[in-house]
Amino acid sequence: MNGRRVPLLRTGASVVVAEGADTALTLVTPFAAGSADRPFDDVPGPEGLLRVPYRGSSAQHPESRALRRAMERGVQLVWLFGVGPASYLPLFPVFVVGEEPGEGRFVVDPGVGQGFVAAGSPPDEHVRRYVVAQTRRRLHQPVFRATVMRAYASRCTVCSLRHERLLDAAHIVPDADPRGIASVRNGLAMCKIHHAAFDADILGIRPVADGVGVVEIRADLLEEKDGPMLLHGLQGHHRQPLRVTPIDEAERPARELLERRYEEFLSAG
Ligand SMILES: [Zn+2]
Repeated sequence: MNGRRVPLLRTGASVVVAEGADTALTLVTPFAAGSADRPFDDVPGPEGLLRVPYRGSSAQHPESRALRRAMERGVQLVWLFGVGPASYLPLFPVFVVGEEPGEGRFVVDPGVGQGFVAAGSPPDEHVRRYVVAQTRRRLHQPVFRATVMRAYASRCTVCSLRHERLLDAAHIVPDADPRGIASVRNGLAMCKIHHAAFDADILGIRPVADGVGVVEIRADLLEEKDGPMLLHGLQGHHRQPLRVTPIDEAERPARELLERRYEEFLSAG
């Protein structure tokens, strides 16, 4: 701003305002270690846009006022989403497009409504579905991926391959499923081949006691003879424990989700 440095992040602040200004620049969602059943406390409203609660639980909190001014002025904000300790994923632009004083929250458009969706407008199912899907693509998926990659130190949980370009953040329970939440506890870092094998029920993970698991390869594949990929890439992992799991126990796969997925693997085999 006029050649001055403007910090977009400040310790303890969930809305950042430039010095001498009164309009929000940044919306911050801090990383919550271990709370992780749901990283998004955003409940989509009738039109599918996100809700964020008043800062400090008050409409008159300075941070809430700064968000209101951003709304009134149509300012573009940066949303910094915590994906680890001191680690943020930036999303830009996002807009504050409405306020619901009765519920104590603002309506935020993460750049998906583009003006054709009005906050609180009567739901048109097609539009709503589009907005929810775009939010998943623009916000939930990148946050999920960044969180999973950090928790697994960018390594495949099965084979420990370390090339991020060859890695996916796999869902244990698919994200189309209502339980398929974008939490790190529903995630596994996997290389492309192991992710595809996991999704195709060729590779399963049998949960064991402490939040980790053992790899199983579908029985008929164990009988096959083929090249080195089958031998080393799949058969070689049969009955081996997962090689990489998050250091923080609270970020390891939820046993309940692994169990559910493992049952599907068994019934598909
Ligand atoms: Zn792998």
